[in-house]
Amino acid sequence: MRPIKSVAIANRGEVAVRIIRACEELGLETVLLHSDVDINTRAYRLAKKKICIGPAPTAQSYLNIQANIDAALAAGADSIHPGFGFLSENADFAEQCEKNGLTFIGPSAQAIRTLGDKVSFKTMAKKAGLPLIPGYEGADQKVETLLAEAQKIGFPVIVKAAAGGGGRGMKLINDKSQAKDLIESAQREALSAFGSATVFLEKYLGRAKHIEFQIFGDGTGKVMHLFDRECSVQRRHQKIIEEATSPSLTEDLRRKMGEVACTIATLGKYKNAGTVEFLLQDGEFYLLEVNTRLQVEHPVTEEVMGVDLVKMQILTAQGNFVFHPQDIRVPRGHSIECRVYAEDPYQGGIPSTGKIGYLAWPEGPRRRYEYGFESEDTITSYYDPMIAKVIVWDETRPRAIEKMIRTLKDSTVFGVRTNIPYLIEILDHEEFRSGKMTTRFIETYFAEGIKQKTSDDQIKKWAGVISKHVTETRQAPEMGHRSGPLSPWSSYWRGV
Ligand code: ADP
Repeated sequence: MRPIKSVAIANRGEVAVRIIRACEELGLETVLLHSDVDINTRAYRLAKKKICIGPAPTAQSYLNIQANIDAALAAGADSIHPGFGFLSENADFAEQCEKNGLTFIGPSAQAIRTLGDKVSFKTMAKKAGLPLIPGYEGADQKVETLLAEAQKIGFPVIVKAAAGGGGRGMKLINDKSQAKDLIESAQREALSAFGSATVFLEKYLGRAKHIEFQIFGDGTGKVMHLFDRECSVQRRHQKIIEEATSPSLTEDLRRKMGEVACTIATLGKYKNAGTVEFLLQDGEFYLLEVNTRLQVEHPVTEEVMGVDLVKMQILTAQGNFVFHPQDIRVPRGHSIECRVYAEDPYQGGIPSTGKIGYLAWPEGPRRRYEYGFESEDTITSYYDPMIAKVIVWDETRPRAIEKMIRTLKDSTVFGVRTNIPYLIEILDHEEFRSGKMTTRFIETYFAEGIKQKTSDDQIKKWAGVISKHVTETRQAPEMGHRSGPLSPWSSYWRGV
C-alpha cells in the first residue's frame, strides 16, 4: 500500500464536502471531479483542484468510469474516494482505479462483487448458516418458476431487481392473482432501469424495523463493528431519518446481530467501511444486504462513537489504520440525522428545485450540518434534491429528538421549499417518540403528506431574517456573490 498525498473525489454535493474536510484534517490535497453544472456548489469552492469530467447527465460524468480515471490521473491524484451513490459500489471502477495506479478508498473489487451483489451475498450467507429472509434467488428466471417459488414462500412476497438499489426496483405482491403480472413487469423494469432482468424473491415482512451495523475492516483481516443505526423512517423504501443507536435492540440482540455482521464481513474479506443491513421483526432478525461503501447516515455513528469514519477510510487505504485491542469503543448518548430535501411537503413531496435565496443553519452544542449548497447556489433537477443533512447529539434519545425539532425550527432556507415541516411532524409523532416505528410508519401516518400551517412564530421568524438581511445588504453592497439582495418581493422568495 502506498502513502496517499492527493485524493480525487468522484462525487458531488455534501459527500464531496465531507471527503474534502477529512482530507484537510490529514493534510492531503483534493481534486474534485465534477460535471459542468456543478460549479456553483460548496464542494467546488472548497476543493484545491477541480476538473470537469463531463456534462450534467450522470452517464456522461459521475457514472463515466474512464472520464473519472483520466481526470484523476491528469490532476496528479494518487487515489480516488468514491463517496456514496454513483460509482461507489461499482467493482469495475474499483478494479480500473487499481489498474491505473490509483488507490481506491474503499473495499476491494472482489469484496464488492461477493458482498455487494445481492444474490451472491445471499448465497454466501446461506452457506454460512446466517439468518436470511426466506426467499428465492435462483438462476432459473422463468415466470412459472418464480410464481411457484412465490407460492412456496407464501404471500405477501416482495420481488426485487438483483441489480437494483436505493429503494428502487421492488414490487410488493400481496396475493396470487397479481403475481404473474407483477413478476413480469418487475423483470421488464429491471432490464430497462438496471440493465439486467434478473430478479429475486423475499417474504415481505410487514412489521419490520430497519437496523444496520457499521462495519470496518482495517485491512489486516480484522473486522469490527461500530454498533448499530436504526433507519425505519423511510418513504418509498428510502431513509429520511436515521439514528444511532437503535432504540429497539436489547443488549442480547445487539450482540448477536453485531456478531453476524462481523461474520459476513470477515467471510467476504472486507476492508474499509461498510454496512450490514437487517430487518428485525417480532424479536427475530434477518440479513437484508451489505452496502460496500460509506453510508449517507454515517455521521450518527461518528457522533455516538467519537470517530471520523472518512479519515479512518483514508488511513486504512494507505495501510496505516489498525484496530488495537486496547481501543475500547462503546456508544455514548444518542444521535439523529434528518435528510433535508428541496421538495414541497404540502404537495406530496414534489421536487422544488431552483436557486436557494438564503440559507442559515443555527449553531449550538452538538449540532452538525453536512451540506453541499450555500446561499445563492442552485439545486438542479439532474441530481438528488438533498440540500443538507442535519445531525444532532444529546445524552438521551428524548433530548436528541427535542434538540432536532428545535434545530430544524431554527433553520432557514429561502428560495426553494423544503421538507423541514414534514420532518418536524414525524419527529413529534407519538410512535416515533416511543421508538416503536416500523418501516411502514410513513405510509401509515403520512401517506397523504402534511397540511400547511402558518403560525405566528413562523411569520415572525421570516420577517426577522428578511429585515436583518435587507439591512446587511444595504450596509455592505460590495460583498458580492453570497450577500446578494434578499427581498421578500423577489420571484424566488418562497420560504420553507
Ligand atoms: P435497496 O438496496 O434498494 O436499498 P433493500 O433491500 O436494502 O433495497 O431494502 C430497502 C428497504 O425496503 C428496507 O429497508 C425495507 O424497508 C424494505 N424492504 C426490503 N426488503 C423487504 C422485505 N423482504 N420485507 C419488508 N420490507 C422490505
